Amino acid sequence: MSMGIPFLDLVTPHVELEAELINVFRGALTTAGFIGGPLVDGFEDDFAKFCGTRHSVGVSSGTDALRFALMAAGVRPGESVITVPNTFIATTEAISQAGALPEFVDVHERTYNLNPAKLRIFLENQCDPHPATGRPVSRRTGRTVAAVVPVHLYGQPADLDAILELAKTYKLMVVEDACQAHGSEYYSRQGQSWKTAGSMGIAAAFSFYPGKNLGACGEAGAVTTNDESLAKKIRQLRDHGQAQKYYHDMEGYNGRLDAIQAGILRLKLRRLADWNRSRREIAGRYRELLKDVSGLVLPFEPSWARSNYHLYVVRVRDRDGFRNSLAAMHIGTGIHYPVPLHLQNAYSPLGYGKGDFPVAETVSAEIVSLPMFPHLSRSQQEFVAEKVWEYTRASEDGSCSLAEARIG
Ligand SMILES: *Cc1c(COP(=O)(O)O)cnc(C)c1O
Repeated sequence: MSMGIPFLDLVTPHVELEAELINVFRGALTTAGFIGGPLVDGFEDDFAKFCGTRHSVGVSSGTDALRFALMAAGVRPGESVITVPNTFIATTEAISQAGALPEFVDVHERTYNLNPAKLRIFLENQCDPHPATGRPVSRRTGRTVAAVVPVHLYGQPADLDAILELAKTYKLMVVEDACQAHGSEYYSRQGQSWKTAGSMGIAAAFSFYPGKNLGACGEAGAVTTNDESLAKKIRQLRDHGQAQKYYHDMEGYNGRLDAIQAGILRLKLRRLADWNRSRREIAGRYRELLKDVSGLVLPFEPSWARSNYHLYVVRVRDRDGFRNSLAAMHIGTGIHYPVPLHLQNAYSPLGYGKGDFPVAETVSAEIVSLPMFPHLSRSQQEFVAEKVWEYTRASEDGSCSLAEARIG
């Protein structure tokens, strides 16, 4: 049997919605309402409701959402912002573009998200209180640490209770990078309730890049927040610093969400809960099919997390051999991400080196993202699992080597 299985199928959901999507475009054409207007307002209302926040502000990308959120929250040039090394570069680009310097803290070896214990060690042992403000000053950079950006990587929420508690002690702002976490949930032991990703920090950034769980037919993003003045600032930042046309209180950016994308997103948002449910079912099925494969480390979901399974990421020591054997059967896979940010050329000026963040480094060498999308069928999944098993058997014959299951 030969059947190709893509890593991601972006065609089917759009074909299913084609008539409705075309109606959005036709509506925009007949009114020439391309920028702002009721489509944008309507999507913002619906998305805020979906996330359980008071406000949502549509912007042109997830990167702009992060940048505007950090700027509006009050990150100032010359300060530093903590995040993780195993994220997409947009996280740290936004920090730099806000005028701050990224500083990294390593991740947890099972969740791959910011490790609160390591954050505590960083703040306690690698920072000194500023003599005047009491805020932490990083010994490494001499800069005041203003904020922390936990990334809900692969859709799995970071441990926000612990992070928020440290943030409170050290007067840090928390801006969530929820660019992969539309509809993911976190059980707050503090609040004794499930919270939606994007509703826990002072603000959160979402991306609607086409491949995300909620994707536009182009570029788009949003910031969510419960803080009205922050929402207002972001509305100004996205629109050249103006609250009223041609009256500029400050310099801003051209960072608006366009109306056609907003209309498309509003339509697709109605399907998001179903699509996420489907992804969780697929993740459950992968677990059943693959749980006994020796040397394959499956995703770990703590009891307090409900991932939206933006990605289904496994670990295997001989990653190239594993990927090649799947590719030979036309099964698409990905690596998110192959080089941690502290080892990227772009960040050599930050002065980090190999060994600085051992968990992120080990993980980045072993991760593989398997096919994951809401329309992945049971038989397609069984085919993937069969090929993974075949690879393992071949490796047990001594032709390849798989990792020991050390964790998970
Ligand atoms: C996609 C993504 C971004 C950036 O979003 P864009 O819309 O592509 O600008 C930022 N952070 C993470 C973790 C992402 O996955």
